[in-house]
Amino acid sequence: MRIPFQLPPEQAHFASELERAIVDELYKRAWAAFATLLLVLAVTASVLREAIQLRPSIGRVLMLMVAVTLFRTLSLVLLRNVPSPRLRLWGFITGSTLIAFGFADLNIISYPDLAPSEVALLGIIDAGICSGALISMGSSFLSYMLYVVPNIGSLALMVALGPSTRWTHNFLLLLCIYLSALILLAFELARAHQREVVMRLEIAEMALRDNLTQLRNRRALLEFMSLETEQVLRSWRSTPDPAHPKIASSLGVLMLDVDHFKAVNDTYGHVAGDAVLKEIAAILTETTRKPDMVVRWGGEEFVIVARDTDRKPPSRLAERIRERVEQHIFNLPSGQTIQVTCSIGYSLFPFDHMQPDLLTWEQIISVADNGMYFAKTHGRNRSVGVMAGDRIPADSDVLNCLEQGLEQAETEGVVRLVV
Ligand code: GH3
Ligand code: MG
Ligand code: MG
Repeated sequence: MRIPFQLPPEQAHFASELERAIVDELYKRAWAAFATLLLVLAVTASVLREAIQLRPSIGRVLMLMVAVTLFRTLSLVLLRNVPSPRLRLWGFITGSTLIAFGFADLNIISYPDLAPSEVALLGIIDAGICSGALISMGSSFLSYMLYVVPNIGSLALMVALGPSTRWTHNFLLLLCIYLSALILLAFELARAHQREVVMRLEIAEMALRDNLTQLRNRRALLEFMSLETEQVLRSWRSTPDPAHPKIASSLGVLMLDVDHFKAVNDTYGHVAGDAVLKEIAAILTETTRKPDMVVRWGGEEFVIVARDTDRKPPSRLAERIRERVEQHIFNLPSGQTIQVTCSIGYSLFPFDHMQPDLLTWEQIISVADNGMYFAKTHGRNRSVGVMAGDRIPADSDVLNCLEQGLEQAETEGVVRLVV
């Protein structure tokens, strides 16, 4: 038996996304669950109307339950801005436990006239309501258990501290059967819910991957870069002196194109070409670090985004990749082996640290592309960095300058080439 958040190895990479999805869902449905709870309490109060008239304490305990529900929902709202889903979940469970025990004490102190059987009955109603709430929130089995267990605990406390009657045991027995059934039901629901969430995540992930190489695709890069560049620019805006950036981060952007790839297809066939692309994808994944982004840009072109390059041009990474591709022996499906080379152009985001907003990340890709073509026209199997020069006029159209040729742009001081 697996508890949610524990996934089979092939789905293990979904664990944190699953956790986030489940907790987000808990939040999305919190208000609906709260409204349902109030409705259930109102119905319960009307069904128990006669009993309440006879014993006003029962009515007051129901009022207390409304208050408990309100406080639980409030604890959800208060924790809404905590960024870690795990912290939010535990915060909610702890708050909810404290509230449950607090109100159990209040019940015992305020209504000593309630018989344990009555307290047990109210406890059962409360546990049922909580179960309903959590199931309707689509929460996980783990949070369900941690939410219901405090209820059972507070109930046991009430029964233990109240005067004992022969009904107590019968009610406790009933309660055990009732709760076991609920827990089993919740477990099954939680598993079904988890399967659904994982399926959703799998579909979402499929849309962000390239079919042939299993690398990320352009859409994934777009999502990644919108978040990353925003974060990088924020770090630059909060840097007091742009001339001496200490804390600001940057992204290395590399554009790789396989040399004479058409010849591979023409000589060995398209299937062999596909096999080469897959092995290149594997080399790129192995050569880069986990937080880096490796993307199949299209055809035989790949984009690599390296994080935290500390304003240093990613020359070493580019050379490492180029050498690994050059030295690799590619095994073709036919049993033959070949060797290929690649050309790499690279640049940095932000391009100019004095004007971090000068070029967008899409424009930096164009700059890296320019570097790659420079490498192609200068013999291939090499890497070329296109970095900001020290004479970039403010608000200059850097891309237009590059159109005139990289050598010209370098002479004018708009760029500095790393070859
Ligand atoms: P260069 O060194 O100038 O880059 O030469 P090249 O031959 O690599 O460049 P070109 O753009 O002329 O050819 C790219 C080839 O890549 C043409 C296309 O058939 C092939 N290609 C694109 N996508 C795929 C793919 O998914 N599988 C295979 N096998 N080939 C592909
Ligand atoms: Mg190409
Ligand atoms: Mg090519």
